[in-house]
Order: sequence, then C-alpha cells, then structure tokens
Amino acid sequence: MGSVVYCIHYKDGCKWSDELRKLKAHLNTCKHDAVPCGNKCGAMIPRVLMEDHLKYTCAQRRARCDFCAKEFTGHTLEKHMGTCGYEPLYCENKCGMKVQRRHLGQHKLGECAKRLVACRYCNKEFVFDTLGAHHTKCGRFPVACPHRCETAVLPREDLEVHLKDHCTTHLLSCTFKDAGCRFKASIFLNGNGTGEGSHISIYIKILPGEYDALLRWPFSHSVSFTMFDQTVIAEKACNIVESFIPDPTWKNFQRPSREPDSLGFGFPRFVSHEMVKKRHFVKDDTMFIRVKVDPSKIVAV
Ligand SMILES: [Zn+2]
Ligand SMILES: [Zn+2]
Ligand SMILES: [Zn+2]
Ligand SMILES: [Zn+2]
Ligand SMILES: [Zn+2]
Ligand SMILES: [Zn+2]
Repeated sequence: MGSVVYCIHYKDGCKWSDELRKLKAHLNTCKHDAVPCGNKCGAMIPRVLMEDHLKYTCAQRRARCDFCAKEFTGHTLEKHMGTCGYEPLYCENKCGMKVQRRHLGQHKLGECAKRLVACRYCNKEFVFDTLGAHHTKCGRFPVACPHRCETAVLPREDLEVHLKDHCTTHLLSCTFKDAGCRFKASIFLNGNGTGEGSHISIYIKILPGEYDALLRWPFSHSVSFTMFDQTVIAEKACNIVESFIPDPTWKNFQRPSREPDSLGFGFPRFVSHEMVKKRHFVKDDTMFIRVKVDPSKIVAV
C-alpha cells in the first residue's frame, strides 16, 4: 500500500485523497482541475467555472448588445460597448434628457433646452429656455406703438424717443381726468383707416371704471369733435364740427371692456390735410381740438 495523498486542488476545496498512483485518474474528473475552453478561446478553465466562462467571459462566446440587439463574440462586444449608437446617454448640457448616442449631436444642436441660441433681435447668445424671458426685456424686441400710429412696430429701446419726438398720434387727455372723466380721445395726424395719408382721424373711447356695474349702459350722450379755425378775425373763423349720438347697439358704447387696443368710435376722415392747410387751423405749430360729451342730450332708448 502506497501513502495517501490529497488532491492538488485541496486548497480550492477538493476533498479527494487516495494513493498517489490514483491521482492522475482523479484529475481527469476533478471539478477543480483546469481544462482548455470548449470554445477554443485558448484559456485553461477549472471545470467548475467553465459554465460561467462560456457564458460571461469567454472571448469566443456569442453575446447580444443590450441596446442594438446585434450579436457579437465576446471580445468584439467589449469593443462595441461605449460606441453603440443605440445606447441612451444623458445629454452633456444637463438638460435632463436621455438620448441615444446616434441622435445626441442633433439633439444638442436643435432640440436641447439648454443649447445656446442667438436672440434674433439683438444677436446675443442665450440658453434656449431663457430666451422667452429675455424677449420680454430685449431692447431690440419689436413692440407696437401704444398709440397705434403708422409706425407699426419698433424696437423696444426706441419707443421712448418715438413717443416723445416722432409719434404722429397723440392721446388727448381730458382736463377733468383726475375728477373721474373716463373718455380717451385718440388723434392720428396722418390719419388711419379710410383717412390714412389724407386726413386727420379722431376717435373717442370710454375707459373702464370702478362703478361700471352701477351705471346705465349703453352710453348714450352726444359726442362732438371741434377743430378751431385760429384766424385773426373771429367773425371769419370757420370751425369744423363733427358729432354723433351713439346708437345703443354700437359695441363701443356698451359697458367698457378692458381690451386695450380698441380705438372706440370716431371719424377716420375728420379733416382733410388739404383743408388744414387752406384755413388757419394750425398756428404757431398748435392746433386746438375740442372733444365734448354732452350729457344733456340723452337719447331715449
Ligand atoms: Zn481534485
Ligand atoms: Zn473560452
Ligand atoms: Zn449595440
Ligand atoms: Zn440636452
Ligand atoms: Zn435680444
Ligand atoms: Zn407712435
């Protein structure tokens, strides 16, 4: 009888022990003895680890990419990872979006909320999702003249100078405005609507007030516009007067709405430019126009 030996893989957990001459035969079946990989990748793998090796680490294993579902061998998959076009990645601009690698370039250029874009009015660059807020402040952003003159839109930063020096429309505010007068007259020196370019146009509008709910609507007093002839000889003066009594069905004389841009009612062809030149309506660069609302002529409704 020879002496008893342990398996050479005793430290790995093999409990086999027998005579030395039987060791060779044991190693042919020992779970811990290494054998060449069945896929011929060249690796020597202990039998007990072969299943794992074939599945997960063998360079010759068949494997599928989780993102594009294409089949690869083990080592080509390792190269493919990190370049697969279908792998979703977080956008580097930190917009919070996950986009497939193949669409990322297009996303950052044209869709990303955090991309930089130039304001089309002032040309400065802004993060896309702050552009709307910028437009509410941008000095070059086009705004409409609040007097609705023929300058349709102008850059916001030019509005102040326009209103002071260039606007052809003037709002006449009533002397009794502070006492609660609620009429707003607008005059267009260059005309608007059918009088555009040839006449002075004039309009009146009722502004909304605190007590509208208590008053009687529609408004039904007569309204007159007078342009004064400033000729020196008073008897020869020939004023121009236009007046109207609101028809109760006219929308503009219903209880006022808060629509800011309705002009109200008036005469687009109040006085022709020709007439203004003929007589002495303008003297020392000044023109006198009276807007009169007469409460005594109440129309029976
Ligand atoms: Zn063994
Ligand atoms: Zn292998
Ligand atoms: Zn892939
Ligand atoms: Zn993004
Ligand atoms: Zn801007
Ligand atoms: Zn204007």
